[in-house]
Amino acid sequence: MSKSEDNAHYLKYRDYYRAYGAAYRKTAAFKESQRKYNQSAKGWQTRLNYQSRPEVNERRKVEFKDWRSRNKVKIVAHRIFWKAMKAGLLTKEPCFSCGHDPALAHHEHYSFPHRVWWLCDSCHQRHHVSRGT
Ligand SMILES: [Zn+2]
Ligand SMILES: [Zn+2]
Repeated sequence: MSKSEDNAHYLKYRDYYRAYGAAYRKTAAFKESQRKYNQSAKGWQTRLNYQSRPEVNERRKVEFKDWRSRNKVKIVAHRIFWKAMKAGLLTKEPCFSCGHDPALAHHEHYSFPHRVWWLCDSCHQRHHVSRGT
């Protein structure tokens, strides 16, 4: 295949490949392989290399600052929550939906930092999906 033919082929199927790639990235299999890779030593190193690039580092700093200013209530709620946990005012509980342990603390309302729902990873995700957040 010549270069221009190659290019024509690419252009013709570009949308198809894009849609295919996007659909694949939504599958559980892809997410699982991605998760495994991220946890592997190689994935860790790749991420570290990427993040230590000056332009990436700068962008991350800006994004984080931006995220922080948009999530002030959330951050404060988490701080209050963890203080209460450390003080023993709150105790870790298994997932209240399916009983799985460990569960994580989900804040339904950030205005009530002490009021959390203990949900396991998958119930937590399902909850956010059903809520559309
Ligand atoms: Zn659960
Ligand atoms: Zn949550």
